[in-house]
Amino acid sequence: MGDQMESVTPPGNRFRNALSNGEFVLLVESSSPSLSNDPIAAGERLAALESAVLSVPGINAALAVTDRYLSLDSWRAVEYANALREENRDRHVIYLSGRNTTVEELEQLADAAAKSRNFNIVPVSGNCIPGDTVRECRKRIFTESVEIIRGLAARPQPFFLGGTVNPYAYTPYTMMGQYFKLVKKLNAGASFVVAQAGWDMLKLQSLRWYFTGRNLYDPMIARLVLLTPTLVEKILAGEYPGIYISRDFQKILEKELRYSMNQFEAAQYRRLELQAAGCRLLGFSGIQLAGAEFPSRAKIAAERIANALREFDSFDSWLEEYNSYLARAEMSPFTNSFYLYDHTLRRAYPEEEHPTVRDFGEPKISPGEKFAFRLRRFLFEHADKQRADSRRLLKHLFASCRGCAECRLPHTKFVCPESCPKRLPNGPCGGVKPTGECEIAPGECIHSKILRLSYWDESMQTLEDNILNSGRNESFH
Ligand code: SF4
Repeated sequence: MGDQMESVTPPGNRFRNALSNGEFVLLVESSSPSLSNDPIAAGERLAALESAVLSVPGINAALAVTDRYLSLDSWRAVEYANALREENRDRHVIYLSGRNTTVEELEQLADAAAKSRNFNIVPVSGNCIPGDTVRECRKRIFTESVEIIRGLAARPQPFFLGGTVNPYAYTPYTMMGQYFKLVKKLNAGASFVVAQAGWDMLKLQSLRWYFTGRNLYDPMIARLVLLTPTLVEKILAGEYPGIYISRDFQKILEKELRYSMNQFEAAQYRRLELQAAGCRLLGFSGIQLAGAEFPSRAKIAAERIANALREFDSFDSWLEEYNSYLARAEMSPFTNSFYLYDHTLRRAYPEEEHPTVRDFGEPKISPGEKFAFRLRRFLFEHADKQRADSRRLLKHLFASCRGCAECRLPHTKFVCPESCPKRLPNGPCGGVKPTGECEIAPGECIHSKILRLSYWDESMQTLEDNILNSGRNESFH
């Protein structure tokens, strides 16, 4: 029996080994299909995509199966991934969404993943469903990615876990919120990183510099998108929370579309090649490609990426081509968008071991906010040491308290984390807007607000030190 198992189970975990060996990986994304799809036909499509992707020479390519990405009416990725050939499952990555999923359900899905030997898992908290109101969103369960990672890392099976981050944040507070939350995911047990899709290479480099500057060398994978006109329309319509096309980039895309569909496609492939090669030269360990789900398209994209990796073997040659082709477009959402470092994209790596970060400027905080902060501090300074229901009315009136079992107000600058429509306590979700506004509710993301207040009362550095020094879950490193 043991020998029979050995014959179908390849030794080790080839995805994990590739990242450890510094091999550049390509993950072609496939989203789990709607439940209304014929499961046999859907499985055959996934198997065809797998064959196409694995057959591309010159690049370590595999699949990333996303989970309930835009709808709830879809197969769980863990189940859908059973259509992948068993002997290849250690090469692929499976997403696991906490949206509308309880901890118990996540346990069952983890059992199913382990049973089918899908050990490379990227947990995500999940986006709101496009069209959801704040009220509808509040009614949904969002089991947070940090907690899913912690739960999976504590299991006996050899899960190899990824943590996602949205590096395309353009205020200091949302950006630091994203970085801090990623450190929490690494501390909880994640061993690799997947960055949200975008086109601003400066932000990808900033992410690398921040983490290597803090001696965090976990492999990072950048998510890229092979655009089609339909995808552009959907992104501009806000159907992909957390993915942003700047006005300048939009104009370039419109211009590319004006000539012919062939020209548009050619421009997208060239952009993809440049981005992929740039990612490798900036120290990323691979890319995850969205928008190439058809086997023929995935194969062409993988071949083009393999060629680009050969074409650009030095940062300088890449930078010259990048500057002439891509750098013309302003990828940031507004003037004075915040970047953490000066002189990124002039060199691949920073000159100093710990590159100097830019000044955040004067804390932006109104007199009303200062007053409210001081009042809450006066009223609730010891709320974490008292019974959660003490002073409930005052908490409700002055801190939008929603009556949870454990009061964390003194640790969150007296902003109730439960006022996040998804009730995420550990940091901003991937859907936060580049300006720092909430994905779904009007106004600023509560985690941006907490960090803005931390910067104002000069406690941000302590917060960062605490997160960085809180220690990693070493069980799977
Ligand atoms: S408050 Fe922040 S974390 Fe919560 S849903 Fe809005 S953007 Fe996401």
